[in-house]
Amino acid sequence: MRRVLETLAAIAVLATSCTTKDETLARQGWEDMFKPVEIVPEDSEDPDESYDPQSGEKWFKMIGIICSWTDVARRAKLDYVDIAKRTGINTFSIYNFPMDTDEWKSYTAECQRNGIDIEYEEHMLGWLLPRDLYGEHPEYYRMDKNGNRVNDANGCPSNKEALEIIRDRAKVIGERYRSTNNKYYCWLDDTGDVCHCPECKDLSPADQALTFENVIIEGLREVNPDATLAHLAYYNTVEAPTKVKPAEGIFLEFAPIDRDHYHTMSTSWASGKDGRTHGQYLKALADNLKVFPKETAQVLEYWLDCSLFSDWDESNLKEVAWNQALFEDDVKTYASYGIRNITCYTAYIGAAYVAKFGYPSCIDSYAEYLRDYVKE
Ligand SMILES: [Zn+2]
Repeated sequence: MRRVLETLAAIAVLATSCTTKDETLARQGWEDMFKPVEIVPEDSEDPDESYDPQSGEKWFKMIGIICSWTDVARRAKLDYVDIAKRTGINTFSIYNFPMDTDEWKSYTAECQRNGIDIEYEEHMLGWLLPRDLYGEHPEYYRMDKNGNRVNDANGCPSNKEALEIIRDRAKVIGERYRSTNNKYYCWLDDTGDVCHCPECKDLSPADQALTFENVIIEGLREVNPDATLAHLAYYNTVEAPTKVKPAEGIFLEFAPIDRDHYHTMSTSWASGKDGRTHGQYLKALADNLKVFPKETAQVLEYWLDCSLFSDWDESNLKEVAWNQALFEDDVKTYASYGIRNITCYTAYIGAAYVAKFGYPSCIDSYAEYLRDYVKE
């Protein structure tokens, strides 16, 4: 298989060089394909126009991390609050936290006293549309490519009753997972397929996700009128929605998990696990920024994601593949698209990580560079 792919790649290179008569024109076409787009959604501010570095304004508004309670709880070994105070991290998203305990209340109160927002970034569709309704209402769930209703992931966004249930349960999320920055995240089920029923088959995964998100935000706003909700561009929803428009308050969260983590995002030809090239990723980002406002758009990255580098095996921790030059180049690329909000997984960087590899100075490098970044 590999040999066939290599042969095909060689033929592709050959074809390009044989059919290109004017290399300058070809290069221009290539650059045009991946340059940032100029069209912005109605009512969207241009982040560059509102930015005033002379007044001391910071380019990056959000400098976040996402990890589990076990990563942050052993503070004698690694104290994320101290790191945040020192380096400018201003948002924590912590999963598997001990809800309703004094320990959690005390921790979040300390975060807030130190200007650190608390939010909850999680896959939640399986909770919003409980799978155990399948027995009575298979029509709530997605149809697979063979025409069978299955409840393995997500649901049927064309089913009005399913949407009602999701809207209703979103109110519970709004109450139980109240964020301090009014940002909410109810991502689709991780790596789940979408609905292929006759009504949904022409809706892309991103259009289907947005259909769910447009009712989730209605539920959230019943309990918090200032709620905003992420549209996660990730896995099968990387490409922009084309048929469904976002309700007010939906913001873009671009999370290229399957990118090549060892080449900069500006390396157009690089491609990761899903086969998309970085050029295609940046085209998708630009397309998404035609649909969602630029000023609230956010990137979720994996530069510090020990869980990813350890292949999600916590018993065999691998050191984060931190590359300062790659990181800085990526930040400049994202900033060139108008991105002013960045967060990053630091999952598995906890006490055991420190014991094995020492203090993770890469977290300081990440936050300090974003904190001090001045956009030219
Ligand atoms: Zn459907």
